[in-house]
Amino acid sequence: MRYSRVVYSKQPELSSPSGYLDRLPSEWAAVLESMGEPPYRAVQVFRWIHSRGVVDPRQMTDLPIRLREKLREVIGVPSLQVVGCLQSQEDATRKFLLRTKDAWEIETVLIPMAKDEVEEDGEGEVPQKSLPFTQCVSTQVGCAMGCAFCASGIAGLKRSLNAEEIIAQVWIGRSLLAPQQRLRNVVFMGMGEPLANYEALARSLVVLTHPDGIGLGKRRITVSTAGWVPGIDRLGKDFMGEVQLAVSLHAPTDELRTMLMPINRRYPLGELIDALRRYPLPPRRRITIEYTLIGGVNDSPMLARDLLRLLRGIRVKVNLIPWNPIDGVGFQVPSEEAVESFQDILCHGGIPTFRRQRKGADIDAACGQLALKGNARRVRIPLWVSTSLKPRNASP
Ligand code: SF4
Repeated sequence: MRYSRVVYSKQPELSSPSGYLDRLPSEWAAVLESMGEPPYRAVQVFRWIHSRGVVDPRQMTDLPIRLREKLREVIGVPSLQVVGCLQSQEDATRKFLLRTKDAWEIETVLIPMAKDEVEEDGEGEVPQKSLPFTQCVSTQVGCAMGCAFCASGIAGLKRSLNAEEIIAQVWIGRSLLAPQQRLRNVVFMGMGEPLANYEALARSLVVLTHPDGIGLGKRRITVSTAGWVPGIDRLGKDFMGEVQLAVSLHAPTDELRTMLMPINRRYPLGELIDALRRYPLPPRRRITIEYTLIGGVNDSPMLARDLLRLLRGIRVKVNLIPWNPIDGVGFQVPSEEAVESFQDILCHGGIPTFRRQRKGADIDAACGQLALKGNARRVRIPLWVSTSLKPRNASP
């Protein structure tokens, strides 16, 4: 007899759960059986936790009292604690600083979707106060990728988050929304390289999309990578290309990309582009290319044309993100003309290209900036990055 619905025709191989938030109904069934309880209670427990957002067994009112008592031993201290919050004065973006049990700090951000974005998506007129949210979550404490323009990269990797800690961010994010607000998208664009923490990522994707839990649509989830090629292949195979893929590219030549993103030495552009061609995209979907425009470094028309050539024949859209200043990193914000000209070249070349609006810029919304300050108290973090990048073809 089955007690939980099958989510995937061929579910990815999953590592063991690390806590209770990342346990699937089939795993709850085994726990309940060991307590002498009928396994059909598993879906009820899973629904209380993930669909209704309740983790106090005393409030799980449709379970027998004896089971609620037993569950108090299994459902313990939350794996993350909210220790800070910044609210943007410019929009409803809120950034939360969360502390792990071993006292590292990570970030998650709740970002309101733009009204036109929601309406274009077929939802019709939506009142401002009911606009859905996108949550940006972290997958690691710091990051090993060392991108020259990123606060998380400055700190280096401290440790990977487990699946429970990844899911806990979403659980907390939902609980912090007002009753009329809802979470619509989850983007793995916070601290860390998600595909370098694949086991925890895959388990969190299966839990977050489970129909008896939050039930997020797979196309509502975006995994953003700096170009971890084996992870791109694995994600495509395990989730049949249905999870949205975003790639931080930031440069169209190996020479420049290696300077900005050291991962390019391990997986150069040729290998990365081949992996994008292999990604099993469903019809009418596109891979998102993230390109941070840094004044005088990667924003020239010549590089825009290089990018156009590089992406030819791949179903992509490009998000241009004007550089968001970080304390201690001396890059320049690109000029308005440079951004416009870069966008025009890509659009005229047939690539849908959008300028990404900076949300919550007044609260350090770029990934890792807030946690960097907190973790800097625990480790010595060099608050400097080489700013001597002068690529061969950086100027027009
Ligand atoms: S941009 Fe992403 S991959 Fe690069 S250092 Fe920052 S968190 Fe890591």
